[in-house]
Amino acid sequence: MADACQHLDQIDASATPTSPDQCLKCIDMGDVWVNLRLCLSCGNVGCCDGSKNKHATAHNGETQHPIIQSHMPGETWRFCYVEELTW
Ligand SMILES: [Zn+2]
Ligand SMILES: [Zn+2]
Ligand SMILES: [Zn+2]
Repeated sequence: MADACQHLDQIDASATPTSPDQCLKCIDMGDVWVNLRLCLSCGNVGCCDGSKNKHATAHNGETQHPIIQSHMPGETWRFCYVEELTW
């Protein structure tokens, strides 16, 4: 059990969020989401695991980008899929 994320070097501070407030994949499907998560490697914005389509986790599965951050106003917590750490 690691107690610190070993993937901080995969954060790209220059990545631009693909959307300020929408899951574009849900929009394409005509679907709705609950909360949004931001991929810190590439800026992909996807919906959370509480949403029906779980696009943020699907993005991790496709790309192996390890770290997401909450993309909700006032929330700054981060999560790494590899160690399953939240901080
Ligand atoms: Zn990590
Ligand atoms: Zn979605
Ligand atoms: Zn990504």
